[in-house]
This record gives sequence, C-alpha cells and structure tokens, in this order.
Amino acid sequence: GKKLVWFRQDLRIHDNPALYQASQDGEVIGVFIEARKQRQQHHEAEAKVGFIYDSLIELRKELNALGVPLDILSCDYFEDQVELLCEIIKENNVDGIYFNNEYPLNETKRDAALETKLKECGVEVQRFHGDLALEPGLVKNKQGEPYKVFTPYKKAWIEKHKTAPIEPLPKPDKQNSEFTEQVTSEFTQEYRKDLWSAGENAAYEKLESFLNDVDLYKDKRDIPSVAGTSMLSAHLAIGTISGKQCIHALLRHYEGDEAKLYGDTWFSELVWREFYRQLLIDNPRLAKHEAYNLDAKETWTGGQDLFKAWKQGQTGFPIIDAAMRQLNQTGWMHNRLRMNAAMFLNKLCLVDWRWGERYFMQTLIDGDFASNNGGWQWCSSTGADSAPYFRIMSPLSQSKRFDANGDFIRKYVPELKELDKKSIHEPSKAQRESLGYPEPIIDYKEARKKALELLA
Ligand code: FAD
Repeated sequence: GKKLVWFRQDLRIHDNPALYQASQDGEVIGVFIEARKQRQQHHEAEAKVGFIYDSLIELRKELNALGVPLDILSCDYFEDQVELLCEIIKENNVDGIYFNNEYPLNETKRDAALETKLKECGVEVQRFHGDLALEPGLVKNKQGEPYKVFTPYKKAWIEKHKTAPIEPLPKPDKQNSEFTEQVTSEFTQEYRKDLWSAGENAAYEKLESFLNDVDLYKDKRDIPSVAGTSMLSAHLAIGTISGKQCIHALLRHYEGDEAKLYGDTWFSELVWREFYRQLLIDNPRLAKHEAYNLDAKETWTGGQDLFKAWKQGQTGFPIIDAAMRQLNQTGWMHNRLRMNAAMFLNKLCLVDWRWGERYFMQTLIDGDFASNNGGWQWCSSTGADSAPYFRIMSPLSQSKRFDANGDFIRKYVPELKELDKKSIHEPSKAQRESLGYPEPIIDYKEARKKALELLA
C-alpha cells in the first residue's frame, strides 16, 4: 500500500522527519487539509492563511519534482480533517499515515482520536517530532522534572544538544510514480506579499542573507527602525523552515565552533522558542488561556475603550501607536515593541492580557500559540519565567532609548513626521491639536502607581 504524508505545520521537503521516513518505507502521496472554521476559532490571522496557501503552492512544486503528489483540501473543523483522511486512505489504498506532531491541546486531541480510529482499521500511524531541534521531554532537571526558568533550561538544553544528532534530514529521493495533480481548493487570503515571500526556498534565502549579518544582531536587534532581526518568524510558525535548520546553519556560519554557536544571541532566541513549546507540552492547560502562575493577581479593570484605542494605534503614546500600526499594516511587530505594546495594554491600561493575546493572533502573520502565549504571560507577569510584576516598561523612556531619532515613529505615525527628535516621543498639547494626534489615553505616572499597588 501507499504511504500518506499529512502536512500540517511543516511545509517543507528538507528536514521533514515524517516525509523522510515515509519515503524510506514506500510510495508517498501527500495531503494538506485546511480547517477554516477551526482556524477562526483559534483566532489565526488571514495574513497567516494567505502565507500558508502560497507556501503550499511552493511545496507542491517541490514535491512534484520528487514524484510526490500533494492534494490541497479544505474543510471546517478538525473532526472533518479526520473524516477526510479516512476517505483518502480508503480511496488510495494507503496502509500507513505519517505526520509531525503539533503541540497545542486541540491538535493533540485530534491526533489521538485519529490514531485510535486508524489503528482499528489496521492503518499504521507514524508520528514524528519535526518542529523542535530537540525532542520534547529530553531536557529535564536532576529530579526529572521540566524546567520552569529559561536560563537553567538553556544550559541543560545545550548539554543535550551536544550529544544529539544535529544534522537536519535531507530531502527524500525522487520516486518513480505517475500521477495527475488534483484540483486545488482555494482558501487563499490577502497578505503583504511585498514584505513576505512564501515557501521553503524563500525561507532559506532569508536565512542566508540574515546569517551574513548575524554578528550585528546583538547590537541591532532592539532597534525597531533597523532591519536587524531575521524576520523568519512567519516561516518558523508554519514550518517552511525548522528551528533545527536555523541552528545548524548558524553552526556552519561559525565553521563548526560549538562554543560560538552556544554563546550566540540569536541562538538564544531560538531556544526561547523551544522553551515555550516545551512549556505548552508540559502544561496543556495553557491552551485554555489559564495563567501559568495560578497565584498571579489578575485584577483587570481596563475596558473596551482603552482596548480599542490600543488596537487602532490611537493611544496618544507615539511609540505604542507606531508599534500597533506596524502590526496592522504589515502583520508583524518588532520584538522590543511587542513587549512594550503588551505591557502598556496589560499593566498600564489594566486590560486583560488575553484580549491582547487574541488580537495579536488575529493580526500576526507569524501568530504562534506557544510563543504568543509565552510572550503575553511574560509581559503580564503571569507566566513561568516572566518579568517581575514591578517591571513596567515606560513608553517614553523606551522610545527615547530604542528609537532615539524617532525614525520608527515617523514611518508609522506620519502625522508626527515633522516633529524634531526631542518632541516626537511626547508631543505637546498644542502640537497634538494642530497635527490631529490624540491626547494620551492614560496618565502614565498615575497608571504606573495604580498597577504597582494592584499587582504587588
Ligand atoms: P529573530 O529575533 O530573528 O529570532 C529568530 C526566531 O526565534 C524567531 O523567528 C522566533 O521563531 C524565535 N523567537 C525570537 N524571540 C522569541 C521569543 N521571545 N519567544 C519565542 N520565540 C522567539 N513570536 C512568534 O513567532 N509568534 C508569535 O505569535 C509571537 N507573539 C509574541 C507576543 C509577545 C507579547 C511577545 C513579547 C513576543 C512574541 N513573539 C512571537 C516572539 C518574538 O517577538 C518574535 O518571534 C520575533 O519578533 C519574530 O521576529 P524575527 O523572526 O525577526 O525574530
């Protein structure tokens, strides 16, 4: 019988364990099934859907060149995916299904249900870990428990990594099969194609060009007006590239010098990604939007008016507004600003962090449950290894520090673009009036005082 590879968040032919193993075992056919309504329930952005769709078209070309057909289907919910898979398995005389694991709760439940169902009809289910550079559960403390704090996790992660296979898998060999490609269902959506190139090859190009400048990352990564980060997050979120491939390419960049790899700042960010995924695997309840820290104080009194001003980039705090408009216009926000925007909403406006988490998911092209939830809980001090409650980033001092000349603000808040680099961070009342820019929606000093009292 044939081997069916079910593509999900692993839209690549290289370093894809499920695809690789299936091709070792027999003749491969591939399928991707979009679950439209499920995705809406998970609040995923239209931009992300568009990026997935275009990446699938690229994936299909790559697979076809290997003699593998890819059927692209769509349905409403995860249950429907299971039904469709069963039909495909019957129609195509499939005796084994192969896929790489996903870690959020609804996904793991669906996969377990599928596995039970297929085992009953004698179809072999083979599951792999393709999303993490180290298999989940490998990194544990001396008591055999998962880490809750990043720094010791990273230390232990490095020790494990030194002994783990670190070479990404190659693409599978070409197979001799005849097929006519099926009609594709259309579920495409709009996104900024001028900013984001879809597909595996585009991801590798981005990685290579970033690696040329990776030595500057440490200094440039916090300056939003500069393209100092890899901008690979949208690719990592849908698996057009894997974390393992990124880490391996970085090691190659350092000519195999492990000490340089493990001391690298960008490497550290990739381990944060692993950390948040592991946290979700160990704590499935996070997928129900519970605070990680059950004792965290959660007195969120901020209402819709504040939330709305924040979403629209009309808070009257130029750096926050620039950040939110970058998100709304491009589907991406710089990491420094994600922290600022999140702390502003949660701690200074006292709006429930879940509202912000959801809005980010609804707009981000790189929306990723584990990283987004981890980021929001870090900022709101409700998370595993989060900022202490009293850490509240001041929009004004952050703006002066990380956007010293106001270049980033000028780009996204054009009504302020004529202001000089001193006043652009905090325009006067008269300037706001004449430029049509709103008054601050909160009094920073008072809001900070209130937050500290409430959260202490
Ligand atoms: P780079 O700086 O080049 O980093 C390389 C890769 O490492 C990223 O692509 C990402 O996969 C990973 N990474 C970097 N920083 C983090 C981090 N703090 N946590 C986890 N992984 C990280 N990232 C997402 O991918 N999806 C999200 O939905 C998301 N939501 C966030 C929400 C908040 C409130 C915060 C504070 C952070 C969030 N992040 C999220 C993490 C981070 O902001 C983005 O990964 C990063 O800005 C993406 O840009 P880049 O690819 O240029 O990153």
